[in-house]
Amino acid sequence: MALLEKKLAELNKPLQGKVALVTGGSRGIGAEIAKELALHGATIVVNYVSNAERAEQVVHEIYEYNQNVSAIQGDVSKTEDIARLCDEILEAHGTIDILINNAGITRDSRFLNMTEEAWNAVISTNMNSLFHLTKRVLPHMVEQDFGRIINISSIIGQAGGFGQTNYAAAKAGMIGFTKSLALETARNNITVNAVCPGYTFTDMVAEVPEKVQEKITSKIPKGRFGTPAEIAKAVRFLAVDGEYITGQCINVNGGMYM
Ligand code: NDP
Repeated sequence: MALLEKKLAELNKPLQGKVALVTGGSRGIGAEIAKELALHGATIVVNYVSNAERAEQVVHEIYEYNQNVSAIQGDVSKTEDIARLCDEILEAHGTIDILINNAGITRDSRFLNMTEEAWNAVISTNMNSLFHLTKRVLPHMVEQDFGRIINISSIIGQAGGFGQTNYAAAKAGMIGFTKSLALETARNNITVNAVCPGYTFTDMVAEVPEKVQEKITSKIPKGRFGTPAEIAKAVRFLAVDGEYITGQCINVNGGMYM
């Protein structure tokens, strides 16, 4: 991040006093969202499932410019973990003002070979988590007449993906959830939006064979993968300046899907 941009954000902290939970904040897109919101003053809770070291690293980096940061373990595919982590955050901070539903996994295979386990794992991590987290957090947002819910969906939920029926169903489901909840909460000063990243260079994409990566980038009008920081900027825009934006899907995909 450019030094000037960093300095300006430090001077003007529009999210000061707001508590943000970033699920899956230990790596990739989630980590950059956590850093970006922290830079703009938010108190950050970084959730992770197994990678405590990476989560601590993110906390450490943020701590250099914002001391209101902590990490919390919890598997968002498990209702009991969500209950525990929300209770802990609410006890520590009193509320959650900004909920970033970012944690996600893929378990790709052609539908004919897809196991029920792979289907359920992807649906519960990527989509059912929205139900359980929002159930816990929304009553507090309604009570305080403020909230920002930002769901990290995917271009695959809009355009489909070969070998990704489970992931596409979950990500498309997130978009329908976003629009419907936005209708219900608009009068409560709670906005609900989705950000739909295109192919973004994180561990998720690094796992894809190099030849396939080349094939993908050749189809991206911008000619390259997105970066997690580019996705994080769209999230920050919705959190900071998105008061009149609700029920939308913001595409950050290098022009790959319009
Ligand atoms: P990564 O694989 O790099 O990171 C995944 C993050 O989610 C990690 O922090 C991981 O925690 C966490 N996580 C995974 N499962 C769970 C769980 N059950 N409970 C809590 N946390 C969990 O993912 P990306 O950064 O690439 O993706 C982030 C989001 O963006 C996902 O929803 C993904 O679907 C979406 N997306 C990604 C795109 C891409 O090209 N990368 C494109 C479009 C959408 P831990 O470190 O502990 O394992």
